[in-house]
Amino acid sequence: MSTALNPKRTVAELKELRALTGDRNGAQRVAFTATWAKARAWLRRKLDEIPAEVHNDAAGNTWATLRGTSEKALLIGGHMDSVPNGGWLDGCLNVLAGVEILRRINAQYAGNPPVTVRLVDWADEEGARFGKSLFGSSACSGNLDMIEARALVDKTGVRLVEALRDHGIDFERVKDSGCELANAAAYLELHIEQGPVLLDFDLPLGAVLGTFGVERHAITFHGQAAHSGSTPMNRRKDAFLAAAKMSPEIYRIAERNGGVCTIGSCTTHPGIVTSVVEECCITLDQRHLDPVALGRMHTEAREASERFAIEGNVGVTWERLWHIAPHPFHEELIAFCDDAIRETCGISHRLPSGPLHDAAEVAAAGVPTVMMFVQSLHGISHNKIEDTKEEHLGLAVTAFDKLADKAMAWITAR
Ligand SMILES: [Zn+2]
Repeated sequence: MSTALNPKRTVAELKELRALTGDRNGAQRVAFTATWAKARAWLRRKLDEIPAEVHNDAAGNTWATLRGTSEKALLIGGHMDSVPNGGWLDGCLNVLAGVEILRRINAQYAGNPPVTVRLVDWADEEGARFGKSLFGSSACSGNLDMIEARALVDKTGVRLVEALRDHGIDFERVKDSGCELANAAAYLELHIEQGPVLLDFDLPLGAVLGTFGVERHAITFHGQAAHSGSTPMNRRKDAFLAAAKMSPEIYRIAERNGGVCTIGSCTTHPGIVTSVVEECCITLDQRHLDPVALGRMHTEAREASERFAIEGNVGVTWERLWHIAPHPFHEELIAFCDDAIRETCGISHRLPSGPLHDAAEVAAAGVPTVMMFVQSLHGISHNKIEDTKEEHLGLAVTAFDKLADKAMAWITAR
């Protein structure tokens, strides 16, 4: 058996999977459906050929294990599930690159690597059917909200609990999957970028610094409705005027602090052409990798809203809609990732991840974690046009394999 990594085989297997589980509208591997189960059965045959020990944990995550001299484990993760009409690479590139790396390690060490190496296919990363992403990894990390998850229902009225049962999973026991992380020493995940940063720099690969934290709020300005003809400009309590001043302000806040800020919606009341706006509600979504800077962006926006309210003689109230902390990745693993990329294609770039990934849950569970991104053509995903140059896919598998080697050496030396 050849001990050489074969990235071309990964590309061929991605095409095989696309033919097996996609249609003219894109990938159809929605978690806990028959097509998803078919994709996983196909994966299992690939893993059996390596051969690796394969089992499903209590949350339905599939684990393939190569036992090593040390019980300390290097984890490589991805997800076979897709959104409906999804792309051909999101999630399954990570898994199939992992399969190729398991093959290489198994052959090189004749079935006994220095550390245990495990590939995990997380169950339902996308949350496409029940509206809750990172199901399998959040059950494993212990962060899954059981009360919220127990109540989830899909569009046709099927409960998550029932869908899980159909796939042999007992909802009440899903957090038992946490035992899988007992010997986890490092976690690596390769993913398409899903955004335009690497494309704009014309770079194939990047080392990911972590996943953004999010502050999401509804901000309501309270003024007074008044006739648009009879009310002089200096006598108005115009809720819209105060809200509108927030728009340029959030660009200044983002520029000062280095994050991203979005006002995604604006509604006015009474919302008629002949009245000054009595009430104006905007939503603000702020994201940053650094928790202190994220907190500062939030405070600055709040102070600005109060200043604009006073200027306009209106009131302002804030309501938090959602919040998640940033999950910065492991410094040393980020450096290894950078090195692996540079050794493969001469140049690397460090970037944060806007979208959440299973890696954020593993990092939250305290396992040293890093991700590698490969350029997305069109900077787009969750769409059948999602694509990456085959040459870049090859570089990604090669660099990710080098990262796996560096992480194994690091685990051994610790
Ligand atoms: Zn994904």
